[in-house]
Parts: sequence; structure tokens; C-alpha cells
Amino acid sequence: MDWHRIRSDFPILDQQVQGHPLVYLDSAATSQKPRTVIQALSHYYERDNSNVHRALHELSARATDAFEVARKKAAHFIGAASENEIIFTRGTTEGINLVANTWGTQNLRQGDVILVTGMEHHSNLVPWQLLAQRTGAVLKHIPVLDDGTLDNEAIDTLLTEQVKLFAFVHISNSLGTINPARELCARAKAVGVVTLVDGAQSAGHMPIDVQDLGCDFFVLSGHKMCGPTGIGVLYGRMALLETMPPWHGGGEMILSVSFETSSYKPPPHRFEAGTPNIAGVIGLAAAIDYLEGIGLENIQRHDHNLANYAVQRMSEVPGIRILGPQSGHRGSLVAFHLDFAHPHDLVEFANSHGIAMRGGHHCTQPLMKRFKVPGTTRASFYFYNTLEEINRLVEVLFAARAFFT
Ligand code: PLP
Repeated sequence: MDWHRIRSDFPILDQQVQGHPLVYLDSAATSQKPRTVIQALSHYYERDNSNVHRALHELSARATDAFEVARKKAAHFIGAASENEIIFTRGTTEGINLVANTWGTQNLRQGDVILVTGMEHHSNLVPWQLLAQRTGAVLKHIPVLDDGTLDNEAIDTLLTEQVKLFAFVHISNSLGTINPARELCARAKAVGVVTLVDGAQSAGHMPIDVQDLGCDFFVLSGHKMCGPTGIGVLYGRMALLETMPPWHGGGEMILSVSFETSSYKPPPHRFEAGTPNIAGVIGLAAAIDYLEGIGLENIQRHDHNLANYAVQRMSEVPGIRILGPQSGHRGSLVAFHLDFAHPHDLVEFANSHGIAMRGGHHCTQPLMKRFKVPGTTRASFYFYNTLEEINRLVEVLFAARAFFT
């Protein structure tokens, strides 16, 4: 693979920041966009912009076609059995809230258990807390071990028939841990528990096959996989989607409406009230085409090499504590703590050298408490990053040590 040529597909990366070549190491927050995605957005607005599903004119037909083709592409991208199992959302957060407010409200009762893990992003935690408050259900979590993996024995104790839903992150955005999603779904299924996989950090980084994973719901955000912001996917198994009530009411989700009552379309349209993010959906389809053009296995291998090299090189910095698995099996991000600088000071220092990183709790406050750190600095990679950029990061970490001590 010619990764240097692929990198040149991303116009934003070719710039100076604070007088240095930009080193973008914040892809776990949002990825950069290749030219083809940017062009798909401007092509849509320049040539095809129109509302979908509602008109018989040429532009609306083009927009509707592109929109529904995108649904097929998204289904293929994650291995769904049918495009009708693909609901377009604003992103991972909205997908989880949709499940909590529809399936959750319908199925959870006083005393039922919602099981999560100790490494969840707030968006896979707060919606379940709200659901628990509404229904009287109880929220429990699987503890995280010192090496950043889940406590396997605790899973046996906690994953019981009392659990109605097990919602867990595929790749942790704060540790880089890759959870064994297939095995976890199988264990849940064996006791009749519905599963939701938070794929915000895995989609676009590795091949995803929801049928092989055996999950009931899977959520992702387009902006973390080269697509635009404000668009994401909720996958739901049709047998579950069919039983779920709508969440948002409005246009496009109804069959008929009277003053007294309404009847609703089948999934996925039942869950897509109002004018959707048409441009976002078209941009997401362009991102899927782009990623599939490179090959998800190739991306996964390259991500893996970058993360391994980063852990190895960053370990040379005295006073560094790297969170999460120290082995090669990790996602493409490294979160760390330095005993000589607060994450915010370090991120500012790195920024003055052209490096973009993130410092803070990364929306995983319970996990920060678990590891007794106020926050961490996170360097996160994608296939457009290079080993030279990691070398540059290590140079700057050494410079920070000299500066802060
Ligand atoms: N889950 C994980 C693991 C994440 O990393 C993120 C975002 O950082 C989210 C959920 C929320 O994604 P979004 O803000 O795109 O809805």
C-alpha cells in the first residue's frame, strides 16, 4: 500500500500549524475527510439538492436515489442482512438514545438490569442512567482490570438472566482496548440478553460484520470514519426493530394521520422523522466507498502497526504511564499520563509544535477515577498518519520533559 499517496487524498493535512507541519493525532475525536467526500458534498449541493421521498421531480428523484443507495452501502459496510436494518442518526450518541427511548422504554421494568462496562463513553452510560431513572431498572458495570481489559470472572457473575440489555464499547476511546465483541455477544445470547455494541471507534478501523458479531444493535458515527459530522448509523436486527415504537414523531415516519391517532411506517422509516441529513448521508456513502477502496483489512493492519510503534517509542519517555493493553492487540490510540506535566499543559505545548492531541477525561470520567488520574493525553491515529509523525511526537515529549522539569 502506498500510504503516502493515500495521505495526499486529505487536503487538510498539508498545512503548517504554529510554524510547523501539522501532525494530526486526534482522529479518535474526529477523523479528517478525503477529497472524494468533500467533493460528494459539494456535488450534491451544486447539482442535486432537493428533499428526499417527497416529490416527483428530477432533483428529488436523484437525491432520493442517492439517499437510498447510501443505505444499501451502509448495510453492506457492516454486514447487515438488509438495508431496512439501517437507521440514519446524527451519530453514535443519538443511536444509543434512540434504543434507550424505544426498545428500552418498552422492555425495561423495575428491578431489571442494564449491564455496561467500566470503560464506557458517557454516551453509552448517561442514556442508560436516564432509562433506569424512568423505569426503575438498575445499572451495573463490569469492572476494568489494571491492564485495561474487562474482568472476565465478573462477566460470569454479572451477566445473568436478570440482565435485559448488555451495552458495551467495541474499542475503548480512552484505553485502546479491543473488547472481544463476538464472544461477549455469544455469552449474552446464551442467557437471553439483548446486546448493543458501541462501534464509534471500531467502524472504519476494521472490518465489521454485525451478523458475525451476533449483536442486536450496533452504532457508529460517520465523522470518525472519514464521513461528515452529524450523520451516523444505528443497526438493529429486524426482529427487534419491528417491535419497537417510534421515538420522534413527524413527517416521513407515518402511514396515515388523523387528529385522534396515527399509524407508522415499518423500519427504518418509522425511526427517521423529518427531513434527514441528506448531504451527510451522501457524504457517508462516499466515505464508505473510499474506505472500501483502500480495504478495511489494510487499514486495520496499518492502524495496528502505528499503535504498536507508538507504544514502543513512547515508552522511551521517562515518567510516562501508558494506559490500556501494553500488548500489540490494541486500537489505534495511545492515552498516557506524564508525571511532569498536566494533560492540558502538555496538549498546549504539543500544539505550539504543530501537534494536535486531546487532553482530559475523554468523556469517560468513571474510567479516569478507576485509574486514579485526573485525565490523560491521547494521541490517536488513522491510516493517514505516518511513523515519522510518531517520531516527531516522541521528540516533542522529550522536549516537554526538558521544558516542564
Ligand atoms: N462512543 C465512543 C467509544 C466514542 O469514542 C464516542 C466519541 O468520541 C462516542 C461514543 C460518541 O460519538 P458521537 O459524539 O459521534 O455521537
